[in-house]
Amino acid sequence: MATVTKDVEAYKTIKVPLWVYENAKEVELALIKKGAEHIPLEVLEPRSCPICKSKLEPFKTEKKDNEYLRCSRCGYTQQRFSRERLFEGVVLGTAIGMGLVYFLNALFGGAERRS
Ligand SMILES: [Zn+2]
Repeated sequence: MATVTKDVEAYKTIKVPLWVYENAKEVELALIKKGAEHIPLEVLEPRSCPICKSKLEPFKTEKKDNEYLRCSRCGYTQQRFSRERLFEGVVLGTAIGMGLVYFLNALFGGAERRS
């Protein structure tokens, strides 16, 4: 049986209120100015799924050679944000994506601990 793989780099349009858009632009600007050094590793490149805590498996796409992490148990997928390649492509989308990883960590019991 063939597995259907979604194109994780396809773009979707969403509609948000102005205040959300303006906050997202603010985060985008701060990310460009400050970089990713203040962002925890559980957001940039977590080892376990924020939802079900299973191990995340890395994979690459052929198109852009970005690295992603996928949970084989629940299907959770996110980009692996390398600090060098953080600002290639759509920074606003990256800012929103990172914010959502923060949100998932908060909703599903917080970050894994790494020392
Ligand atoms: Zn999972």
